[in-house]
Amino acid sequence: MCGIFGAVTPGSDAAGIAALGVFSLQHRGQESAGIAVSDGEQLMLYKELGLIAQVLDERRLPSLRGPMAIAHCRYSTTGSTVWENAQPTFRLGRNRSIAIGHNGNLVNTRELLSRLEGGKTRLPATTDTELLTALLADDPADDIVGALKHVLPTVQGAYSLAILDEKRVIGVRDPFGFRPLVLGRLETTEDDPEGKHSGGWVISSESAAIEVAGGTVVRDVEPGEMVILEEGHEPVSIRFAPGHEQLCVFELIYFGRPDSYMLGRNLYESRRRMGVALAAESPADADLVMPVPDTGAPAAAGFAEGSRLPYREGMVRNRYSGRTFIQPSQHMRQRGVTVKLSPLREVVAGKRLIVVDDSIVRGTTTRQIVALLRKAGATEVHLRISSPPIHHPCFYGIDTQIETELIASTHSVEEIREFVGADSLSFLSIEGVLSALDLPYDRFCFACFDGRYPVPVPYDTARHKFVLEDADGEPVSRGELGELRHE
Ligand code: SF4
Repeated sequence: MCGIFGAVTPGSDAAGIAALGVFSLQHRGQESAGIAVSDGEQLMLYKELGLIAQVLDERRLPSLRGPMAIAHCRYSTTGSTVWENAQPTFRLGRNRSIAIGHNGNLVNTRELLSRLEGGKTRLPATTDTELLTALLADDPADDIVGALKHVLPTVQGAYSLAILDEKRVIGVRDPFGFRPLVLGRLETTEDDPEGKHSGGWVISSESAAIEVAGGTVVRDVEPGEMVILEEGHEPVSIRFAPGHEQLCVFELIYFGRPDSYMLGRNLYESRRRMGVALAAESPADADLVMPVPDTGAPAAAGFAEGSRLPYREGMVRNRYSGRTFIQPSQHMRQRGVTVKLSPLREVVAGKRLIVVDDSIVRGTTTRQIVALLRKAGATEVHLRISSPPIHHPCFYGIDTQIETELIASTHSVEEIREFVGADSLSFLSIEGVLSALDLPYDRFCFACFDGRYPVPVPYDTARHKFVLEDADGEPVSRGELGELRHE
């Protein structure tokens, strides 16, 4: 996860647009937020733990001057949730200063660390992004584009990047395009048709954020492409590797905003169609269909349509409590659900319910939801999940790296049903997802469902969110890699 947004706004400060853009991506990461700006001569950075509206408030933004900016909200997949690991990263290198916002997760982190000055460099933070920033800042190439051409071919894994140096914002997408990245245009105003004080270019994790920021979507950044945005220039596209898009299918099932588009598909409509497909695959006899709010709602609407049953909202969600899945610890996740969701007794009492959700990760949240509904008087609870069971961990930017935490990796569907306490349980098949999206299998990564990882994951990476930390959470250098915190 993580949200990234970059803006170049000739003749005006870019910080406001970048903050607005990343604010629209808050659902992608809630642990920390930050922004880096350039006035053409030097970079300035501000980052803090917390939500975007708290970090990038109106007291902070006016002091961040310059027509180029990148902003980031974080959801951790490598490194702890501490200030040092907030992004954008920053490094003053030999030939340049750079800041980076990263969405994704690298899988050859140890190898990259060993390349840093023979492994003697101690980094200030413990993220894969910090490592990438150091490699790019210290590269001997004359400019950042040359450094990217040197370094990117050595990097493996998932990375959509917003990069800032003194003169430009660069959007980069890895050759598999695991995470989305979209290019947009800010229109010039009528009194400034040449775009000296208006207009510009943006890059964003999702199309919806471009529209919220007042821009129009131009196109997706292609896998294996970098797009260079500079004041007074049209975007320049450079291909650094052949690309074969295998977008994370979970972006369409769950992560992305329903008003965003990916691979030409609107995400609300895609999810509604997944609900229709699920109703065809796994019907149930019931009185009504209801979603687990909010993200289950489009698929529930599709299920109701497909099964010709009434659709009702049987639970209320506290809008200010954040998403369960992306809270960073099990303790927070467990505490979260009871304050987050409450059943509507008027709707569910005495009813046989079909409850639609988009995924089951650990099963603990689902179990509590079923218990809440039964306590409110539901006579039957039939769970329908609009994605396949998650059997395998993700190493490309989702914090499900510990296989044993995934209930479907160790339990059959019947055992999961028993654990969560439902009367029946069904998952949408991979074929059902594809028919709803009307796209072929090879356009997506489905690895957490079927174990077919597009980029091989070394065993040590596969076990270490904390690969760059020692037992006290301090950064390690190469020589210390043998004594890892979680080995
Ligand atoms: S493993 Fe799963 S969550 Fe990770 S990128 Fe692939 S489909 Fe997405």
